[in-house]
Amino acid sequence: MKFYSTNNKNLRVDFKKAVLESGLAPDGGLYMPREIPELNKKFLKSLAKLEFNQIIFEIAKPFLEKEIGSKDLKKLIQEVFDFEIPLVFLSDNVYCLELFGGPTLAFKDFGARFMAKVISHLNKDRKKITVLVATSGDTGGAVANAFSGIENIEVVLLYPAKKISQIQEKQLTTGASNIKALEIKGVFDDCQAMVKKAFLDREVNENLTLIPANSINFARLLGQVFYYFYVYSKIQKPFTVSVPCGNFGNLTAGIMAKKMGLPVQKFVASLNKNNVFQDYLRTGKFKAKKSVQSLSSAMDIGNPSNFYRIKDLYDNDLAKMKKDIIAYSFSDDQTQTAIKRVFEKFDYLMDPHGAVAYLGLEKYLKDSACKRTGVFFETAHPVKFKEEVEKIINQKIKLPSKIKKILNKRKKSIPTPNKYSALKEILLQ
Ligand SMILES: *Cc1c(COP(=O)(O)O)cnc(C)c1O
Repeated sequence: MKFYSTNNKNLRVDFKKAVLESGLAPDGGLYMPREIPELNKKFLKSLAKLEFNQIIFEIAKPFLEKEIGSKDLKKLIQEVFDFEIPLVFLSDNVYCLELFGGPTLAFKDFGARFMAKVISHLNKDRKKITVLVATSGDTGGAVANAFSGIENIEVVLLYPAKKISQIQEKQLTTGASNIKALEIKGVFDDCQAMVKKAFLDREVNENLTLIPANSINFARLLGQVFYYFYVYSKIQKPFTVSVPCGNFGNLTAGIMAKKMGLPVQKFVASLNKNNVFQDYLRTGKFKAKKSVQSLSSAMDIGNPSNFYRIKDLYDNDLAKMKKDIIAYSFSDDQTQTAIKRVFEKFDYLMDPHGAVAYLGLEKYLKDSACKRTGVFFETAHPVKFKEEVEKIINQKIKLPSKIKKILNKRKKSIPTPNKYSALKEILLQ
């Protein structure tokens, strides 16, 4: 499969180059597949009879069969997706898809694990690769875990000091020796800006093979398309889906699923107070803002990197985009109230990100008097935000054993100033 850049439709690069040799296209754009394969109606009908891994294989095949081969692709999928994805019935027409069954208890495991295996597979000549990633919390943990101990790959991850939860920090600072965690004195947007600079820095790229592990890397997005089809295989009718958005990788994957033929009636882009996308839908103008801190910290992003992919998927046509997507923004107060309310009413405990998604779905179904089935994504296990959630429901929650093990490990981080030159020095040392 060939790729173009969101800045240049005429560009043609192959899969390997798009995910392995460069992060951003040379012109600073994001890579997009030249064609998004359409799956036929028969496939959709057959979904209910397929296991999750079979569904993944059928969807990944047109993208990766040539690069990886059927047999290895099947094996890779089995290794990556070895955990459950429960679809939980909540009430009437509302379901929750729990995407936190992976090793770091957040949905980032889907993309990160898939990408790590794909990259390690494509890196046949065992070149030394540096994976560079900025994280607002969950990405770092998932990427550190996915690449931990993989030969010839070093991971450098940047995270904003004191802006992520204790469990998240432990997850990204306790990996194997090939994982370097840089604790940046700044906010997530600063980390992301530094990473972007490194990818465009000639000197750095002449000395290193740098790969992004943020959702600017297409391989990660592909690892997130599958579960949208999985929902359909369980519900078997058109549905609305509410996605808690930060960098918009998850939503981009969903829009790709729809382009592939999945009958999604509406996407609800559920946001916290970082609502530049809502402003965009309202005004048609995209204006990046400085991020503000919220309870759903993995969504505190003021300049979402996949925005240009979404624009591209709708041919820069705002009206077309608005037909498919609606955006809502919620305060921390509303998020807290939703967690408490759903816990008391349905005995179901949501984390702050899932709660924002729940609010978005609830609002959409109510405002549009929609009777259709709605699904919201629960993207992190509530225990990842233990202190906050316990305060809200006024109850202790139990630590899963995966987490207990990590909390006993010692944090290894490199305190780093909020300056690109500091990152550059570490990369080139
Ligand atoms: C990253 C993250 C999000 C946002 O996902 P994007 O793909 O960046 O939009 C939502 N919830 C949780 C728990 C996350 O870690």
